[in-house]
Amino acid sequence: MDFSVVDTPEQAAFRREVRGWLDANIPKELEENLSPDPQEVTEAEFQWGWEFQKKLGALGWLAPTWDKEHGGGGLSVDHAMVIDGELSMRNLPPMSNLGIALAGPAIRAWGTDEQKRRFLPGTGRGEIITWQAFTEPEAGSDLASLKMRAVLDGDDYVLNGTKMFIGGCNVADFLYTLAVTDPNAPRHQNISAFMVPNNSPGITIHLLDLIAGGGKRMVYYEDVRVARENLIGGENGVGKGWWVAQTTLELEHGGSGRVVRDPLVDQLIRYCRSSVRGGKPLTADSKAQQMLADIYIRSHVGRLIGTRNYWMQSAGKKFSYEGSQFSLWGKTFAPWLAKQVRELVGPYSLVTDQKWAAIHRELESHQRQSLATHPGGTPEIQRVIMARAIGISRSPNRTAASGKPSGGH
Ligand SMILES: Cc1cc2nc3c(=O)[nH]c(=O)nc-3n(C[C@H](O)[C@H](O)[C@H](O)COP(=O)(O)OP(=O)(O)OC[C@H]3O[C@@H](n4cnc5c(N)ncnc54)[C@H](O)[C@@H]3O)c2cc1C
Repeated sequence: MDFSVVDTPEQAAFRREVRGWLDANIPKELEENLSPDPQEVTEAEFQWGWEFQKKLGALGWLAPTWDKEHGGGGLSVDHAMVIDGELSMRNLPPMSNLGIALAGPAIRAWGTDEQKRRFLPGTGRGEIITWQAFTEPEAGSDLASLKMRAVLDGDDYVLNGTKMFIGGCNVADFLYTLAVTDPNAPRHQNISAFMVPNNSPGITIHLLDLIAGGGKRMVYYEDVRVARENLIGGENGVGKGWWVAQTTLELEHGGSGRVVRDPLVDQLIRYCRSSVRGGKPLTADSKAQQMLADIYIRSHVGRLIGTRNYWMQSAGKKFSYEGSQFSLWGKTFAPWLAKQVRELVGPYSLVTDQKWAAIHRELESHQRQSLATHPGGTPEIQRVIMARAIGISRSPNRTAASGKPSGGH
């Protein structure tokens, strides 16, 4: 089976333009020296990444398919595929701007015209960074049981509560936050969504030391005042937060798809070709050959599922099980790949010392990242969502034996 992707002549010309621009704007030494561990990215590297993000935004390449008036590039999906593909092959500081991937689409779908004017252009141009603040210590998979309260007081809402696993390797301008606005309303109808300025008095943030790194934080809200006009959900947005969040979660649960596969697989194959064991390259070993072939095939299966979802999303197709299928593929492939790597490469895949570490420490970092299957919903929850979508769940609204319906985050 031929897995190769063939560009149209127009895509090929655009690819040359994008690649040329990236070559001219990314210093070689930055790519060569960047730590694969996001937590080790230096302040200078982070600042460089942010400036680079803004340069991409100015070209319309950060949110290529968004309208120009909303900070996008007004480009076609064909162009977006090229940009995604080229960026994924570069070694860059993490640009974890969840505003573009998660909050932006929700504002585009649910925001008032005034909110779109206020939040989208800065987001699309990479000037505004937003973190997603949904999860709480007692509300993860069952997101609808969240406890953060938002009480209307004059023209402001006053927020109290705690969010967990929030953020990325950078600073944020806004926290895209879910909170209960009506504790007496039925489940799902009691929640509203807010864009909370991160510099609001009453917000305290503590970095979490996670094995996967990633700059995740606890965020405490104590009497945080947020203006009424920052409530997202349309003109009558109070109580619509669950549906606003669904726009985000559908994308986060694999609905955004992906047109490229992880470059780690190619790096691993190159490493095995050039590593000599017992006088022969690792790839001369028949067991290693079989393992690498299996890794290669599975990685392409994931790429095809991701490409289908990318197409479905951009063509406005309705999703059933497909988003969670891609998410579940990623969450099972990563730990499986990590195990294969340990068998193939041995202890070199587990050390951080540059002298011994295989592939510039990429493999060691991957070993740890592969353990983090929780972001965007656990594998079990992806299975629950798929079961509901194909009609084999115990009931559309009740999945847990505890009797608590699952929110499916
Ligand atoms: C690295 C990282 C990054 C994250 N980033 C963000 C972020 O940016 N913003 C944000 O808001 N959140 C973020 N999260 C939170 C993430 O969405 C939650 O961790 C996830 O939804 C699971 O919730 P939980 O951790 O409370 O686990 P729980 O919900 O307590 O689940 C515990 C275990 O029970 C299982 N389980 C729960 N319910 C069911 C069920 N109905 N059926 C079967 N099994 C079930 C789960 O699969 C899991 O194995 C992040 C988490 C991590 C680890």
